[in-house]
Parts: sequence; C-alpha cells; structure tokens
Amino acid sequence: MKPKVGIFQLASCSGCLLSHLDTGKIVQFMKDYDVKYYPLVMDSRTIPDELDLAVFEGAVGTIEKGHMKLITDIRQKSKKVASLGACAVTTGILMHSAGNQMPMPETDAFLPISEIVNVDYAIPGCPPSPEIIERFFDAFLRKDEKYLQAFTNIEENSEINIRYITQRALCISCGLCTAVCPTLALSDIEGKPVIRDEICVKCGECRFQCPRSYMPLDYINETVFKDESTSIDEYLGRYMSIYTARATKQEILKNAQSGGTTTALLNYCLDSRIIDGILTGGKDKEKYWLARSTLVTNYEELIETTGTTYNLCPTLNILKDAATSNYLKNIAIVGLPCVQQAIRKLEIYPLSMRSVIDKLSLRVGLFCTHNFRYNAMIKMMEELGEIRAEDTYKVDIGAGNYMIYSVSGDVQKIPIDVVREYEQESCSICPDFTAELSDISIGSIGAPDGWNTVIVRTKTGQKAFEAAVQGGYIEIGKEGKIPIDIELVKKLSKIKKNRSKKKIENRKKYNLKVPF
Ligand SMILES: Cc1cc2nc3c(=O)[nH]c(=O)nc-3n(C[C@H](O)[C@H](O)[C@H](O)COP(=O)(O)OP(=O)(O)OC[C@H]3O[C@@H](n4cnc5c(N)ncnc54)[C@H](O)[C@@H]3O)c2cc1C
Ligand code: SF4
Ligand code: SF4
Ligand code: SF4
Repeated sequence: MKPKVGIFQLASCSGCLLSHLDTGKIVQFMKDYDVKYYPLVMDSRTIPDELDLAVFEGAVGTIEKGHMKLITDIRQKSKKVASLGACAVTTGILMHSAGNQMPMPETDAFLPISEIVNVDYAIPGCPPSPEIIERFFDAFLRKDEKYLQAFTNIEENSEINIRYITQRALCISCGLCTAVCPTLALSDIEGKPVIRDEICVKCGECRFQCPRSYMPLDYINETVFKDESTSIDEYLGRYMSIYTARATKQEILKNAQSGGTTTALLNYCLDSRIIDGILTGGKDKEKYWLARSTLVTNYEELIETTGTTYNLCPTLNILKDAATSNYLKNIAIVGLPCVQQAIRKLEIYPLSMRSVIDKLSLRVGLFCTHNFRYNAMIKMMEELGEIRAEDTYKVDIGAGNYMIYSVSGDVQKIPIDVVREYEQESCSICPDFTAELSDISIGSIGAPDGWNTVIVRTKTGQKAFEAAVQGGYIEIGKEGKIPIDIELVKKLSKIKKNRSKKKIENRKKYNLKVPF
C-alpha cells in the first residue's frame, strides 16, 4: 500500500515546497505516494482523517490560533510528522520578525513546530535542496531507517548554526559550512569559521552539513563502498590495491612533499580532462606558511600548490564558487581524512548547494596524523624548534618525529608526542589516518624517501591512477625493488584509532558532544 501523505503550509514563503517541485519528479512522487493533501499541486482541500506522513512547511504563528489547532489535529491523525525547511525547524528567518519587522502584518511571533507537537523528522535548510527532499521521500518510501536517522535528531537539527560545534572544540576546519551558507554569514579566519550573527537567517544548513555534528561513519562507509569490490583492513579501511609511486616529471619531484604522486595524478587528470578543476590546500601569498583553499585549473597553478602546509586549510569553502561561478563540471578535491568525511556526508546528505555534488569527480585523500591552527604551528616552531617560520622551507612527519627543515640546511626533529601539545583539539578524536573515504589515499609513511604510499580504494580512483601510470605521469615501484612498509602505516593508524577512542570516552565523561 502506498503511504498516505499530506503536505501542509504554515507561515512560510513556499520556497521549500517549490524546492520539492524543483526535483522534476513530482509526477513520480504523486504515483509513489497516496497524496491526500497538497494545496500547491492539487485541488483537494479536505483535511484527511489519517496519514502515514504529515509534512509541514513553515513556522507556527504563535498568535495564529488556526496554526496551533491544525498541527495538533494533524499530529493526532499522523503516524509520522516531518518539519520541512528552516521556518518549520528553527523558525529560520522569521526569528528576525519580532520587533516590528513583520512579514505578515497580523502575525509577528513564531515558533518551530517541535515546540508545539512531537516531530519525527526535521529537515532544515532555506530552502532544503531538491536533492535532499527527493532522498527523504525515497527513504521514507523504502523504510530506510538508517538513512532517515539523520533527520530524527530533532534537537540537534534545530540548533541553528555551527557555533555549537566551534564552542565544543569539534570544528576541524573543513570549510564546508562557509561554502553552504546561503547568506554569506560565515567566513574563515585563519582556518576557523566565524559567524556574523546579524545576517545569519538560522537556516541550520551549516550545522546539518558539518561533519562534526552528526557523522554516521559506518553508514557512510557502507554507502560509499556498496558497489565497490574491495578488501577490508581494520586499520587501512577498504581498498583495492596498494603501491609505492612517484611522479616522473622532474619539476614535480623537485617541488613536491615526497614523491609528488598527488600532483602528478592531478596533472594527468587535468591534461586528459577527467577533471577541469581542483580544490586543494595552497599557500597564502602574504602570510608565510598559512594554508589557503585554492582552486586550480591548469598546470601553472597546480605546481604552485605542491608541498605540505601543516596547518588548517578550509579547503571546501570555495566549493560552491568552483561549481557555480567558475562553471566547473568535474572537480577533484584534495584533502585530509576529515575533509573527505565532509565531502562524503555532503554527497549522501546534500541538504545545501543544489547541483553541486554531481560535479565531484575525484577525491584524493592525504594521510594525516594531526594538524594545527596557524598560530599554534608558528608558536610550536618557535618554542620547540627555536626557529622562525620565515627561516624554514619544509615541514614533514616521519619515523615518529615532526621535522622542520631550515633554509640554512639544519633539520630539527621533535617527537610527535611533544608536538601534540600544539595540535588542534578536534584532531584528538579523529579516528582516520589514511583517508578511508577517499577514492585514492596518498601519504609518505611506509614508502622510501622520495616516494609515496598509495592506497587505491574505488573504481574511480583506480581508473584515474592506472591511466596516469599508463600515460607516463606516475611511476610505480616495481615489486620488491621499492619496498613498502605497510605494517608501519597500520601501526600509525592503530595508534590514531586508539587515541580517538580514549579521547571520545573522555569527552563523554564531561557530557561533551561527540560526532561518532
Ligand atoms: C596536515 C597534514 C598532515 C599530514 N600528516 C601525514 C602523516 O602523518 N603521514 C604521512 O605519510 N603523510 C602525511 N601527510 C601527507 C603528506 O604530507 C603529503 O601530502 C602526501 O604524502 C602527498 O605527498 P606528495 O609528494 O604526493 O605531495 P605533493 O605532490 O607535494 O602534493 C601535496 C598536495 O597537498 C596539498 N596540501 C598541502 N597542504 C595542505 C593542507 N594543509 N590541507 C590540504 N591540502 C594540502 C597541496 O595543495 C597538494 O595538492 C599530511 C598532510 C597534511 C596536510
Ligand atoms: S567542521 Fe567544517 S563544517 Fe563544521 S564547523 Fe568546522 S569548518 Fe564548519
Ligand atoms: S550561518 Fe549561514 S548556514 Fe549557518 S544557520 Fe546562519 S545563515 Fe544558515
Ligand atoms: S587529524 Fe583528523 S581532524 Fe585533524 S586534520 Fe587530520 S584528518 Fe582532520
């Protein structure tokens, strides 16, 4: 039997329902569901007696007696109730309507639906994208409780923005919140998002998309790899094959962090038009060593981004611009494991940024032990390395040490455990060393100097990597000749996972939120 659904409108602009129409699949929706009430698309004005799902767009007008009565009646008649869009979930932009900025002359006080009746699903967004509305209705139809779980966190989804995350030291500076904000209320200052409250419309998009709000890692992992044929390892994640590799171009080898496989792979993908743009972590032009999200569309720009910048890079904050203002159709994302998590969550739950996820073509993950805020990194260099950032040309991690290379030729080696004092707090709960959700992961640990360890995970990664090898852009270490210490990679991953577990337990003791 088709589920009986009713779609109701309270105080709102109809944007969320127009977003539903914008899926282009409204006819299919009308076939899949037994639609009892939907004034925007059908004539019936009779309030149904029973429903499997009632969906409300809009906030409850607190002095609108009709609204209170309607939602209370419908709640009693419906097995499940969903609030759709920011007005319904948080009151959204209507929050600003107190104090004589009245969008409707007779009504100037609003509440979220969950304050009056029990709500089963909350889908924030102003408006939520057509993609997420379609997926929500599909999941409801299939009774896909695992997918729907993300919408059942009513309290969490009603938190209006990412301040909740930053206040609890959970932010890992992926930059996604800044990209999704529809009013440009967010900007990244030295890697961290800062909110301009006066232009925040409380849409909840930043909070919903944040990989540190709700992050169902196991479910996302399962979904990403459901059509892949991979091996699975407790410490390496899912993978198809593992290599040592390096770039063949001298210019890349000379400038790269280790083997330059990352740059060479991207170079090949640009040349062969598998991709037309790359989001990665470049360097600031003025502030020495400050990582900057960078859009690359040609080799000249690419070669400028080689090497590792060991501080937070909000790589994804230019994603919307890359896909919309720059009209890129096939984008590669180079990023740390946490950035890959943000991307995969966005792909599976694309609440924001309509028409962007279909432009993501390749996800290149970098291994990561931990990271620093820019100021903490500079301080660490000065206090532990006794060197000014301007006098260094390279920083690296290897054999349990953090290594700082000075322009005068010295190398300072500082044990990682000592350096940890300066790391960003949110890294301490991070369980992923090898970027387990990427298409292809690249690191230096495990490979000899001047080479990379490469873990190919998906068909997309395999296709690009093999083509880059065949195209002569990448050389792979021949069996036995270029050894790989994969046990070392596993060991470091194990250390990171164990540390994450411990830190998560510790946070729980203080009642501090954990994302996974
Ligand atoms: C914070 C951090 C910690 C890391 N920790 C480890 C580790 O513990 N063990 C390990 O084996 N490898 C680690 N890596 C990865 C390693 O430093 C190399 O990036 C990787 O081995 C690829 O080498 P390559 O020679 O192919 O890089 P290259 O060809 O030189 O390319 C490097 C790529 O990384 C991008 N990049 C540089 N800095 C950043 C940044 N801050 N954020 C996002 N992208 C960036 C560049 O834009 C470029 O695309 C870490 C990287 C970072 C950024
Ligand atoms: S983790 Fe990413 S999305 Fe979440 S608050 Fe930080 S920068 Fe924003
Ligand atoms: S900061 Fe932006 S994305 Fe976040 S709730 Fe406010 S308007 Fe929405
Ligand atoms: S340790 Fe984890 S959270 Fe921190 S930068 Fe690395 S991948 Fe991101």
